[in-house]
Amino acid sequence: MPVIEVEHLHKRYGDKIAVDDVSFTVEQGEIFGVLGPNGAGKTTTVECVQGLRRADGGTVRVLGLDPVRDRTEVRQRVGAQLQESQLPDKLRVREALDLYRSFYRNRADIDELLDDLGLTAQRDTAFHKLSGGQKQRLSVALALVGRPEIAILDELTTGLDPQGRRDTWDLVERIRDRGVTVVLVTHFMEEAERLCDRLAIIDTGRVVAIDTPSGLLSRVGTEHRVHFRPLDPVDDALLAALPEVTGVRRSGDEVTVTGPEQVLQTVLSALAEQKVRYAGLRVEQPTLDDAFVSLTGRAARATTPPSTDERSS
Ligand code: ATP
Repeated sequence: MPVIEVEHLHKRYGDKIAVDDVSFTVEQGEIFGVLGPNGAGKTTTVECVQGLRRADGGTVRVLGLDPVRDRTEVRQRVGAQLQESQLPDKLRVREALDLYRSFYRNRADIDELLDDLGLTAQRDTAFHKLSGGQKQRLSVALALVGRPEIAILDELTTGLDPQGRRDTWDLVERIRDRGVTVVLVTHFMEEAERLCDRLAIIDTGRVVAIDTPSGLLSRVGTEHRVHFRPLDPVDDALLAALPEVTGVRRSGDEVTVTGPEQVLQTVLSALAEQKVRYAGLRVEQPTLDDAFVSLTGRAARATTPPSTDERSS
């Protein structure tokens, strides 16, 4: 049973078409990714889902409701973490949670929430003294304080360091494990690949593909690339003649052999048989980046979130 149904959504800002034609459904209990480069129309789409913007065309149903007409009810049942959570500087973590909690009829236990989000030690810390990661976690806590059935998380890990990002991914999985459906807006392929059960790739206001991460990967083939630097002479023709090998390339002193998943084993056996020593062995597998490039014909703007150091409070 879908909890979100978006059909032929269209939204303009003046002459600018932000969302051209977007359709997708989100099933109860899944982590659904909305993935695409900057300016693709992701935020506009989820703002229409939350009833913050009125669509110019198409229909949106959330938990069977119309998010614009039934805005009050949708607000009670859908928790949203906005791109930039700005609270008054002096407001303390606990006070912010108490305030937001009072808006909802289903209220989460604040101590439990603080504990879950690793913010117990910051309960009396003022907003402006929180680190980037702690602010991010507080904004997630605010999205969960009304015990929502759906949580919409937009650009959750932007600006976090690698550890902060990983912790946040674990957190998103814990939210889903509690039975909350998660819509995760991101332009980071790695994040989508790691977390999402299914995802919609959006580019210039249109859905390019909807699938599971592995389904998207299988669309671009399963070619692996084995790279190594031979320390003894090796005959490229011999490598190319091995079963499963689809290509052999040299770049400087590095050899790259391509083929399906088993190609690594094939290459290693052949090198051992010919007593060829090697260094710098690495294997590249297809990623969602490759899927994105193949589906849209161009590279995603960013694949790895920029790191900024988390300040300590
Ligand atoms: P990002 O990852 O950068 O947040 P996005 O995929 O969420 O991008 P949107 O924010 O939905 O994309 O923007 C889609 C397009 O609509 C962009 O070209 C953007 O410049 C434009 N746009 C967004 N909001 C407005 C607005 N309020 N007025 C005019 N144009 C807007």
